[in-house]
Amino acid sequence: MAGSGTSDTDDDCYDTESSNGTESDAEGCFLDYGFQPQIAPSYQVIMKESLLEAQTQDLCKVMDMLTLREQHARTLLIYHRWDIERLFAVLVDKGRDQLFSEAGVTILEHKNPVSLQFSQLTCNICIEDMSPDEFTSMDCGHCFCNKCWTEHFIVKINEGQSKRIRCMEYTCKAICDEAVVRKLVNEKHPDIAERFDRFLLESFIEDNSKVKWCPSIPHCGYAIRVEGDPCCEVECACGLQFCFKCSLETHSPCSCMMWDLWSKKCLKESEAMKWIIVNTKPCPKCHKPVEKNGGCNLVTCVCGQPFCWVCGGATGFDHTYSRIIGHTCGRYKEDSINKARVDKEIYRYMHYNSRYQAHTDSFDIERKLKETIQNKISVSETNDSGSKDYSWITNGLDRLLRCRRILSYSYAFAYYMFGNDLFKDEMTRKEREMKMNLFEDQQQQLEANVERLSKYIGVPFNQSSMDKVWATRMQVINLSVVTDQICKKMYECIENDLLGPLQTVTHNIAPYKSNTDDRPWLLLK
Ligand SMILES: [Zn+2]
Ligand SMILES: [Zn+2]
Ligand SMILES: [Zn+2]
Ligand SMILES: [Zn+2]
Ligand SMILES: [Zn+2]
Ligand SMILES: [Zn+2]
Ligand SMILES: [Zn+2]
Repeated sequence: MAGSGTSDTDDDCYDTESSNGTESDAEGCFLDYGFQPQIAPSYQVIMKESLLEAQTQDLCKVMDMLTLREQHARTLLIYHRWDIERLFAVLVDKGRDQLFSEAGVTILEHKNPVSLQFSQLTCNICIEDMSPDEFTSMDCGHCFCNKCWTEHFIVKINEGQSKRIRCMEYTCKAICDEAVVRKLVNEKHPDIAERFDRFLLESFIEDNSKVKWCPSIPHCGYAIRVEGDPCCEVECACGLQFCFKCSLETHSPCSCMMWDLWSKKCLKESEAMKWIIVNTKPCPKCHKPVEKNGGCNLVTCVCGQPFCWVCGGATGFDHTYSRIIGHTCGRYKEDSINKARVDKEIYRYMHYNSRYQAHTDSFDIERKLKETIQNKISVSETNDSGSKDYSWITNGLDRLLRCRRILSYSYAFAYYMFGNDLFKDEMTRKEREMKMNLFEDQQQQLEANVERLSKYIGVPFNQSSMDKVWATRMQVINLSVVTDQICKKMYECIENDLLGPLQTVTHNIAPYKSNTDDRPWLLLK
């Protein structure tokens, strides 16, 4: 555990476990709704300085289990991308010998004693004769002169292959003993030996499927280690939330692939959207964008509704040379009526994008509320002699932000789930329609309740009477529970009815996290 000793107080700053008490009390009365108990955090934040410690922990586990030396444990772990569970699974499946030979670990029971029996040895690489103490024999038993070994190591380190430097013997697959590499290289080039050590340390992150640098720019210096499924969303101690799998911003319930496609599409389509906004007007009946092709100001939507291009108002079908019959709004010029239609696919995209965008905008506005509310709370706390428990509003806002974001991403999700890009052949038309209705039911429920929650969170609670504050408090607490429940159901629907039954492809999404207070500031000391 030791560490630097000075960091003890710093570490405490990140320990929010103790502050949970008061918050869960406020929600304790809603146990009937099935409020989830706190679950153990499924990831850890590791400081840069603690990497060595974290790596040593993993090495020790393997060394203890298999009674190995450190370099062999490291070779095994690098080969299995630092996934201890996978390593032990291979051990159980294929046995110790195969586990070792696959990874290039060779352990000879007795090291080649032959070399010491002669006064002179010949190196098979440089064909020079030297005394035996100028030779080094690797774990695999292959013995060459130190000069040749050193050159070999330096070439490999410079090639960026520090993690897996193989024996010089042509057919031998054994990985060289890192202690030997370090010792021999250090005699000639201490700087390169240092680089070798750094590569080995960084491998713990770079080759590790369970550890990742936080993608913050500028970099905060933290890494995240997940315990279970790496398909999850995490929050670094620096405050950045990201998808552990793709390192992009959080995007659940979109899969990483959906999110990648969606963000690229948004960039690509923004030009087309600008054109549509300038060159089309929404139909007064069905709200689809209608394009005006010719000069006539009486346009007809694909739904059949005629309307006046100048003012956007619904009209009849007939017009004379100078005006639309029964409509007076201004200038009108005769031309042919154009049944303008905007590409169906673009319309579909606009439908989802406008809703996605609207919720993203709301999210940005509501996020700024955090500060406002915090200020109001501190004012109230100093002035007021009454209730000082404002956890309901901070918890409510947390819930609101969580749900709002899910809501906005749910539109990108729906665009791909029910569109032709990804799952065209996965569902019949009828199935798709059925599933879409099922999903949209929940999406709309969530939308309605999120808007209500947002309304109550926005109530200026420090200017209201106690009764009103109490009523708002009840609404916020109730709506927090309700939106949480709907989110849970929506994710169940996605997993069981939408993504689960897919035959040809797998789309994993980060699971819904109900707890608003599951940030694991359990820094590795
Ligand atoms: Zn040699
Ligand atoms: Zn060898
Ligand atoms: Zn960070
Ligand atoms: Zn992702
Ligand atoms: Zn229309
Ligand atoms: Zn008009
Ligand atoms: Zn006309």
